[in-house]
Amino acid sequence: MKTPTQTHAIDFDSAKLQRLGFGHPTALPRRPATIVQLRQQLVQQLQTSLEVERVLGAFFREVQRLVPLDALHYRHEASDLRLEFGHRGHHSVSYGLSHEGEHLGELVFRRNQRLTEEELGQLESLLSTLLYPMRNALLYRAATRSALRDPLTETGNRIAMDQTLQREIDMARRHLSPLSVLMLDIDHFKTINDTHGHAAGDNVLRTIAAAIKSQLRNVDMVFRFGGEEFLILLSNTGRDAARMVGERLRQAAQAQDYWAEGARIELTVSLGCSTLLAAESAESLLRRADSALYVAKREGRNRLAMAG
Ligand code: GH3
Ligand code: MG
Ligand code: MG
Repeated sequence: MKTPTQTHAIDFDSAKLQRLGFGHPTALPRRPATIVQLRQQLVQQLQTSLEVERVLGAFFREVQRLVPLDALHYRHEASDLRLEFGHRGHHSVSYGLSHEGEHLGELVFRRNQRLTEEELGQLESLLSTLLYPMRNALLYRAATRSALRDPLTETGNRIAMDQTLQREIDMARRHLSPLSVLMLDIDHFKTINDTHGHAAGDNVLRTIAAAIKSQLRNVDMVFRFGGEEFLILLSNTGRDAARMVGERLRQAAQAQDYWAEGARIELTVSLGCSTLLAAESAESLLRRADSALYVAKREGRNRLAMAG
């Protein structure tokens, strides 16, 4: 199982992959008498949760009363979701789940021993109990995520930022670990809107958000702070490391290609960086990053300034 501390330590590539352990293998539930019973039980049980992890976890656990398995992998590209239950197995069988033309993800069952024809038939019959619960869970996930996202840039919105920042501050206190923030603002952005129009400006915002995210390990820590300002939370990152990340972001933003009305345009960003002080509030931490950003602007833009 993941612990909150591990959440922010994992690499960019595995950031979206959740490995969910398989509980206590010694306490395998008894086997049911028939597939009919198991189907009925699954239909009831799977509708008790709206969370993808729980629905699949319950399915994986209960299905084993009839068909023992070593692992279940799940992947749904559209919602950027990858889950793994159990461990690896040599043999695998995969199924695409879809409901009325809607793709609900791909399931891969794994086992060290090959699955028999009878077992495959049972598995396929039980899979149908997943359709409605999975559709509902994916809808629920999409709804909760969109409430926390900025639709234009696919970064976190202010609500997400406030929640995450407070959580990260609490965690930094508890673990005595450093926490830094970067406030990033596009230089002379108004000129882009004025010269090429608002739609071109929106496009640039999208491009720059993607460029920022591509440089970071944990893409869930980028937030749209204001119109053309982004806040990046760097957990477990002290002043010197934050300075390096900030400088990397500045260079990446400058190196990125931006297009407006068919022509390439130059763009730079300025950044302010602050590192959490003992007993400092979220507001104060942001205020210091913002003051540093102001300094970076005043000193000529396209640079990073560190809060004192
Ligand atoms: P500076 O280098 O001092 O930051 O100059 P600037 O022009 O970037 O700064 P200023 O804050 O004066 O202007 C920001 C502009 O960003 C104003 C507004 O028109 C534009 N803006 C804010 N939100 C959006 C948006 O969602 N889409 C677009 N296209 N433009 C936006
Ligand atoms: Mg601004
Ligand atoms: Mg600006």
